[in-house]
Amino acid sequence: MATTEWRNETSDMAVQQFDVAAAKLGLDPNLAVRLRRPDRAMVVSVPTRMDDGRVNVFTGYRVQHNDVLGPFKGGLRYHPSVSLGEVSALAMWMTWKCSLVGLPLGGAKGGIACDPAELSRNELQSMTRRYTAEILNFIGPEIDVPAPDMGTNEQIMAWIMDTYSQHKGHAVPEIVTGKPIAIGGTLGRREATGRGVVYTIIEAANHLGVDLTKCTAAIQGFGNVGSVVVKELNDIGVRIIGVADRTGGFYDANGLPIARLLEIASQTHSLEAFPFGQKITNAELLELKCDILVPAALEMQITQENAQRLQCRILAEGANGPTTPEADAILRDKDVFVIPDILANAGGVVVSYFEWVQDLQNFFWTEEEITRKLRDILVKAFHEVLQMSQKENVEMRLAALMIGIDRVARAMLWRGLYA
Ligand code: NAD
Repeated sequence: MATTEWRNETSDMAVQQFDVAAAKLGLDPNLAVRLRRPDRAMVVSVPTRMDDGRVNVFTGYRVQHNDVLGPFKGGLRYHPSVSLGEVSALAMWMTWKCSLVGLPLGGAKGGIACDPAELSRNELQSMTRRYTAEILNFIGPEIDVPAPDMGTNEQIMAWIMDTYSQHKGHAVPEIVTGKPIAIGGTLGRREATGRGVVYTIIEAANHLGVDLTKCTAAIQGFGNVGSVVVKELNDIGVRIIGVADRTGGFYDANGLPIARLLEIASQTHSLEAFPFGQKITNAELLELKCDILVPAALEMQITQENAQRLQCRILAEGANGPTTPEADAILRDKDVFVIPDILANAGGVVVSYFEWVQDLQNFFWTEEEITRKLRDILVKAFHEVLQMSQKENVEMRLAALMIGIDRVARAMLWRGLYA
C-alpha cells in the first residue's frame, strides 16, 4: 500500500488519535480518508562539505499535511531520530494545532536526520543552506513557512532566510519565523512556547482548585521549551524539583537553584556539568512524585510501560506526541489531568503567526501586545477544549483533536474536492 512510505510508529500513533476523534465526530469517511495522510511529502538529499573535506549526504524531509485553512506552517527538526514517519506525524499534529487555536494556517513539518551537536558551525550552515535550496520551490511566504523545532534555533532560521532571499534577489523575512529580531523576528518568539505551556498550566490549576505556589514540578528537556517552562513556573512560585536533558537529570526535593541552573545551561547548552541535586535518569525524572510533569523533549516518553508509575496530578505536554494512546488510557484511569500537546505547546505557532503577520505588514508590535494576545488565544482555546471535554465526557486530548479536526473538515467541505 502506498501509504506505508510515510508510516512508522509515530505516524501510526497520530493516525490512531485522528481515527478516534473522527469516529467521535462522525466525520464523513470521504473526508477522513483524505485527512489520514499528508498532501505532499518531500525527501531530499543534502550533500554537505564537512570540515575535513569529505562530502556527507544527509537526508532531509518536508511534509505538508493540509493547507485548507491557509499556508503550511511547521518547525524544522535536526535530530538523529528524524524520519519520514516522524515528520509526517508532526505535520499532522500541526494541522490540528493551528486549527484548534484559530490560526489561518495549515500543518507542515521538516527535518534532517543528523546530530547537530556533532556538527561544526560551518557544517551546520552548509547543510542548512543546501536543504533550503532543495526545498526552495515548495516553500514561500504564501506556501509554507518553516520555524524552529528540536535542534534548530534562530541562527538556522537566519541562514534559511538568507538562502531563500539570495535566490529571490531581495530580502524575504516572512519566509521563516523564529528569526533573530535584527532581521525581522518578533519579540517574544523564543519564550512563546514555554510561556504558553505555563498559561495552560495556570488555567488547569484554577480549574482543579490547585494552588500553584504549593506545587512541585519536574521538566524533561531543557532546550527552548523546557528552559522557559522552568523559568516561568519558578517565577510564579512553583518549586522545580527535577530537570533533565539528553545527558540525564537532577533532583532535589527542596527545589533546584533555578537562577544557577539557567546560567550554567545558557553557557554550556547542557545540564551535564550542573553541580546541584541528586543525579537521576530521564526515566526516573518522569516518575518523580510531583504535582506538574512537563515532558519537553521527544515523543513517546510516556508509554504503557511507565504510565502506571507516573505520580503527577497535571501532565502538560510541552513536547509533541510525548504520550502514547495506551498510556493515555492508563492516565485517564489514574485521573491525571492531561493538557494535550496541540493545546499546551501551541504558543510557539501562535507567536510565529504574529511574526509572519508583522513581517508581511512591515509593522512591529510591542512585547506586551504579543504576550497579551498570546495569553488571550491560549486561555480561550483551553476553555473551549475543557467545555468540549465536559460536554462530550471525553478526555482533554480527544476534545482538543475534535475541535481542531472539525474546523479543518468544515473548511474542506466548503472548498470541495478538486478533481
Ligand atoms: P531544543 O532542541 O531546544 O531542546 C530539546 C531538549 O531535549 C534539549 O534539552 C535536549 O538535551 C533534550 N533531549 C534531546 N533528546 C533527549 C532524550 N533522548 N531524552 C531527554 N532529553 C532529550 O528543542 P525544543 O524546541 O525545546 O523542543 C522540545 C519539544 O517541544 C519537541 O517535541 C518540539 O517538537 C516541541 N515544540 C517545540 C516548539 C518550539 O517553539 N521550539 C513548539 C512546539 C513544540
